Amino acid sequence: MTEDREALHSGGCQCGAVRYALTAEPYGTHICHCRMCQKAFGAFYAPLTKARTKDFAWTRGRPAVFRSSPDVERGFCAACGTPLTFAHRGSDHLNISVGSLDRPEGVKPEVQIGIESRMPWADELPRLAEERTEDIMPAERLTRIESYQHPDHDTDDWPAEA
Ligand SMILES: [Zn+2]
Ligand SMILES: [Zn+2]
Repeated sequence: MTEDREALHSGGCQCGAVRYALTAEPYGTHICHCRMCQKAFGAFYAPLTKARTKDFAWTRGRPAVFRSSPDVERGFCAACGTPLTFAHRGSDHLNISVGSLDRPEGVKPEVQIGIESRMPWADELPRLAEERTEDIMPAERLTRIESYQHPDHDTDDWPAEA
């Protein structure tokens, strides 16, 4: 990616040490239920979207990489552990974790893969009882919570000066 191309999407890890930008819309958004993605994300499934490597650039820091197969590299923040990418070595595209995008709500999954490992109760999740944070935490405690999470936009300096 060249500096003069405008970023359409940005994202990064929870602590802000690693940030990236996309100069094209992502495509092929999916959730992967495979056991390796479950483990890598510490989750029931992994939400992933695709970008051409030419449309993707790291804009702060670089991820650590775990080679989960001879041909596969999983990028994550070495400081906070956020899963960021999944890529086949030498490929012209990579997968990005949807939750690490600054605006993940616009990147909607189109297909589920690896369903042989899907949690047997996955279809029940939308029917679980629902609670808002303010329903389970007193308002005065909520206002005192301090977050060290990087904001959902690029910053000149991070951590911000106190
Ligand atoms: Zn981090
Ligand atoms: Zn997977």
